[in-house]
Amino acid sequence: GSTDYKSDQQFSQHIQKSSEAVSAFAKSRTLKQQRQFLPIFAVRDELLRVIRDNNVIIIVGETGSGKTTQLTQYMHEDGYSKSGIIGCTQPRRVAAMSVAKRVSEEMNVKLGEEVGYSIRFEDVTSKSTFIKYMTDGILLRESLGEPDLDQYSVIIMDEAHERSLNTDVLFGLLRDVVSHRYDLKLIVTSATMDADKFAKFFGNVPVFNIPGRTFPVDIMYTQNPCEDYVDSAAKQCLQIHLTPSQGDILIFMPGQEEIETTCDVIAERLADLEDAPPLAILPIYSQLPSDLQAKIFEKAPDGVRKCVVATNIAETSLTVDGIMFVIDSAYCKLKVFNPRIGMDALQVFPVSQANANQRSGRAGRTGAGQCFRLYTEMAYKNEMLKSTVPEIQRTNLANIVLLLKSLGIQDLLQFHFMDPPPQDNILNSMYQLWILGALDNTGALTDVGRQMVEFPLDPALSKMLIVSVDMKCSAEVLIIVSMLSVPSIFFRPKGKEEESDMVREKFQVPESDHLTMLYVYQQWKLNNYSTHWCNEHYIHIKAMRKVREVRSQLKDIMDQQRLPVISTGTEWDIVRKCICSAYFHQAARLKGIGEYVNCRTGMPCHLHPTSGLYGMGFTPDYIVYHELVMTTKEYMQCVTAVDGLWLAELGPVFYTVKSSSSTRGGTKQAVKAKLNQMESELAAASQKLKSMKDEAN
Ligand code: ADP
Ligand code: MG
Repeated sequence: GSTDYKSDQQFSQHIQKSSEAVSAFAKSRTLKQQRQFLPIFAVRDELLRVIRDNNVIIIVGETGSGKTTQLTQYMHEDGYSKSGIIGCTQPRRVAAMSVAKRVSEEMNVKLGEEVGYSIRFEDVTSKSTFIKYMTDGILLRESLGEPDLDQYSVIIMDEAHERSLNTDVLFGLLRDVVSHRYDLKLIVTSATMDADKFAKFFGNVPVFNIPGRTFPVDIMYTQNPCEDYVDSAAKQCLQIHLTPSQGDILIFMPGQEEIETTCDVIAERLADLEDAPPLAILPIYSQLPSDLQAKIFEKAPDGVRKCVVATNIAETSLTVDGIMFVIDSAYCKLKVFNPRIGMDALQVFPVSQANANQRSGRAGRTGAGQCFRLYTEMAYKNEMLKSTVPEIQRTNLANIVLLLKSLGIQDLLQFHFMDPPPQDNILNSMYQLWILGALDNTGALTDVGRQMVEFPLDPALSKMLIVSVDMKCSAEVLIIVSMLSVPSIFFRPKGKEEESDMVREKFQVPESDHLTMLYVYQQWKLNNYSTHWCNEHYIHIKAMRKVREVRSQLKDIMDQQRLPVISTGTEWDIVRKCICSAYFHQAARLKGIGEYVNCRTGMPCHLHPTSGLYGMGFTPDYIVYHELVMTTKEYMQCVTAVDGLWLAELGPVFYTVKSSSSTRGGTKQAVKAKLNQMESELAAASQKLKSMKDEAN
């Protein structure tokens, strides 16, 4: 029918309706037939023979050939589940969940029984699980308790071409494991040609190619650089949709925000047209609730075209069948270490040529396709990198350093990395751990450091939890840390922005976003964890349930570590001081009206509009922040007012109290001197290491 709606509400109803129609549409082919249609099925027996003869193999196959969903099942069918679990790692949580669900359907078992998945804070496996999908981070953690990963008979390291930080570290660890566990099968899969590099790394192991079935894709560039890729993508999408053609559309956008806007813009423009054919607009990104994520895989009813708007998750991790048109914005979000602020930040970057080619390849799976690149051919050829820099070379390594240290790997510069991280990166991360008291002056793990490793949290957060026990406010900090581990608890429905903002304001603790979170949780608890209460207060019930679950898991670890959970009651200043003790290296001080500068670097930084301190007229002299978000400016997200004296007391490396309060410059110089001293000490240490290595050679 014609789509003619005027408000957002109507738009969401449209999305709702189109996805319902999608669900209702019967699957035309049985799951078994679908499995046998996959390219990997044609080489199944040969593949299993090669695996029987080799302990480590690399498998290369186009995205969608069936690697992720079929390999685990083939290994099970060939008997490997008798001697252990068949594990398959994924760099992305969404992929682990969605693929496990799919495989459980294909095997006709209940998810969480024979087939399950495990991601941080969410373990959907049981004693009977023999096919387990998990994030690479989970396997890495498991190797802490069981370095030889004895419970596994097969480990499939999927999506190795992604070169995620955890996968890269696992490479180094597993290389050792397979050298003495002859009963373990290690399978590394890749969608691209990096395969030879992997093969060499594991000692010239065989590379198995799954012959693909792909069709030509026409690639179109823009004449001029595009100014607004959301607008251009929406235009392109409608142009495709309104010309008589068949096939679904896939649009790549950098992140959630851009995806949501793109969906809105397309729907709005479609609504303005008379007699436009129906279009099912389906977003997908990692924070989307999983029932909505599943929609992208469902077949649309006859005559309804699908338009999937995705992050790079749809590049190789998830395959949507039936795509014939790809629109590529050229951008993605990457976590990078920003030396200016001394920490990681999520930033928008142009994709690499390899990514661009993966993206366009999505259009040629079912027939000849078209890819619209919203950039010039010049930009592709001259400005894009050949491939993305591996995560290990661009992010903060503090967690990894902590993990490896506790595995007994003392000299990280000696660890067998496929592509070693820059030495500065390692030293910087060690420095950060030293500040937090996790490493001592010789770079060895301290008792606190050993305790920190036990928590699946960022070092600053685990430190905060440990300190809170001494400060007798661990009950409160446990809640705060759990709240920080879920994306966002407040929602702001369209059309009810003011109303929801007003409700939200009632929860605000003026001096701290962290305390606001604590207060919300406590109120929810007082209301018996009620769903109704959440809905009434514009709070995501699912997010809150998640918080409760995370809290209980962290509490288990605290119990194991004999860290008591103690409440400080209403002494919330103590909680703020505890927050300060973990974040003192991320502090800012007031300079001028409502303007802050970073205490260590002097760089201007701004309160994020979502902070309760924003625009409240109350601007404390000193604040610490949870994270820094870079957009047009540097924004501090989730902040807490602190006392300048606490900073001096808790972070003596950085801050000293001057007798005269007006000599802030002097403090800065003292900090700088200390930093320089630290840096040169670390540099000297690394120099020494190097010369020792040279001598050894
Ligand atoms: P590869 O790992 O080689 O990229 P996959 O095993 O992920 O391939 O995909 C094989 C097929 O399974 C694809 O056709 C894909 O569309 C389908 N598939 C994968 N996950 C799901 C899912 N959650 N729902 C429906 N189909 C899926
Ligand atoms: Mg895959």
